[in-house]
Amino acid sequence: MKKTLLGNEAIAWGLLYAGVDFMAAYPGTPSSEILETYQKLIKQMNLPAYAEWSTNEKVAYEVAYAAAITGKRAACGMKMVGLNVASDAMMSSAYIGNRGGFLIISADDPGFYSSQTEQDSRYFAKFARIPALDPSSPQDAFRLAVVGVNLSEKFEIPVLLRPVLRVCHGRQIVEIPDFEFKAKKGSFERDIERWAAVPRNPRLKQGYELLRKLREISEFNYEEFLKPQIEKLKGEELLIVASGTPYAYVLEVLEDTGLKADVLKVDMPTPLPVDRLKEVISSYSTVVVFEETYPLIEEQIKHLGNVKGKLTGDVFEIDEATHERVAESLQKLGYLKKNVYVGKKYDKELPPRAPSLCPGCPHRTVFYAMKRVFGNKAIYPSDIGCYTLGLNQKAVDTVLCMGASVGLACGFSKSDTEKPIVATVGDSTFLHAGIPPLIDAVANKHRFILVIMDNSTVAMTGLQPTPERIGNVSIPKIVEGCGVKPLILNYDGTIKSTLEFFRKVKETYEKANGPVVAVVNEFCTFDKERVKLPGKFAKVDQDKCTGCGHCIREFGCPAFRWNEEGKVEVDPYFCVGCGVCLSDLCPFDAFVEDKR
Ligand code: SF4
Ligand code: SF4
Repeated sequence: MKKTLLGNEAIAWGLLYAGVDFMAAYPGTPSSEILETYQKLIKQMNLPAYAEWSTNEKVAYEVAYAAAITGKRAACGMKMVGLNVASDAMMSSAYIGNRGGFLIISADDPGFYSSQTEQDSRYFAKFARIPALDPSSPQDAFRLAVVGVNLSEKFEIPVLLRPVLRVCHGRQIVEIPDFEFKAKKGSFERDIERWAAVPRNPRLKQGYELLRKLREISEFNYEEFLKPQIEKLKGEELLIVASGTPYAYVLEVLEDTGLKADVLKVDMPTPLPVDRLKEVISSYSTVVVFEETYPLIEEQIKHLGNVKGKLTGDVFEIDEATHERVAESLQKLGYLKKNVYVGKKYDKELPPRAPSLCPGCPHRTVFYAMKRVFGNKAIYPSDIGCYTLGLNQKAVDTVLCMGASVGLACGFSKSDTEKPIVATVGDSTFLHAGIPPLIDAVANKHRFILVIMDNSTVAMTGLQPTPERIGNVSIPKIVEGCGVKPLILNYDGTIKSTLEFFRKVKETYEKANGPVVAVVNEFCTFDKERVKLPGKFAKVDQDKCTGCGHCIREFGCPAFRWNEEGKVEVDPYFCVGCGVCLSDLCPFDAFVEDKR
């Protein structure tokens, strides 16, 4: 059958085609639709398979890996920064291996579109000594997901599939051969020497075994992927070695410009059969390597011939590949006379549109009240989630990685004792990585305020359910279990009660000699199950508005805008009727209800 699919949807189909009947994931752009699609498909087709959103990527890895130990075919999904969290399990599982096929899907984000780093998951695979597959399109992602599961089962080694943003969110007509889904029955077979291998001798034995597997997989890489292509090369002057999306761009640039070059696609950048490539690489006068994001292939083959790439400064070193960037490199190397993709730049000045919390979002009211109570002197460590956008209200001072708001607050509390510390974290991030540093805070008496903004969903990545919603896990009880009785606010959509709450939090903090935790029960405005908007729309009484700018600067609802008179007005198309601005915001009471 043929289907128009996102790359992430194609991967989910590939998993089912390969007989994966167990999947766990933690949401993160650009990977989230993989598990969502897998869940949807097993429900629609009534397949005997299991899927879960796990508490974090390490948990997802371990849950799925256990299934692969029992002989089931399994997969785990995450974005690349999540692989940092899962890496402890990954490094060790590479040695131990698996019985059923086990695919790790780590989606990369070249260009920092929705991530704090541009890290290349393929390096993690090389570091862990496991194979990595690098798809160039949704169809290719389907194919390599299947290859990855089979390869993993054949060699009893975890395999990493690394789609990038443009593969995950690109759409293509994908061909899916007919298949019959067969789930496997899992059965744990005791093998203490393998599953519970300890240092030194059992692990050393596994280390040698891992090296043997890698040599065999490298040979498989040559025979299956590279040799059939090498045999068809035409002997042009230029050889382009490419993997992932750059491969797709290279093909289109060659077609658009008529440039003649041989192209070698690398499906598996590690382990690469470097010695086997020596003859072909050295036979070309120039070899150019295009890959995202770091120079993994180039580093391995650079000594084999006249190899140009990121390391030689001939190919972009940062940011994603584009037609324009590929053509720019080929022009610089003298293979293209001009770059046909450089168009006329739009030179009109566009109005700045900073990313912003949605109209009606309770986070905005919480940040506003926090800032009014704790002022500019306080330090505001924050975390990964929609609420990072509290930086527009100057209520976010640091963003490092998942859960770091709490860990940094611990450190600030001992290293800058002059300032109050008010950390913010969302519910999902708190459950993901915020609990160990809170325990540290209790144990070591770190004095700060932690505000848990609890909307019971992973809002930023598309409203995936959290443990609270799936299994009634209670954040206040967890906090209490860590040793702190939390203060709780049920957000009622008014600045007044949010301010009163934070004044109470401040009083508690002034008397505390350890962490103070405030849990604010909120909602996401897109969450149909919980959203509570009173339908009170706003407008600005132009006679009262002085143009002081307080509302835009400190609160910043996207519905507010300046008019030509230098006053603020409400854009009725953006106002969702939350009613928050109607009291306690404007010092001149200029916001009034717009009875539509
Ligand atoms: S805070 Fe009030 S007076 Fe100041 S700009 Fe906004 S609406 Fe106008
Ligand atoms: S009522 Fe006020 S704060 Fe709420 S969405 Fe409308 S303009 Fe924004």
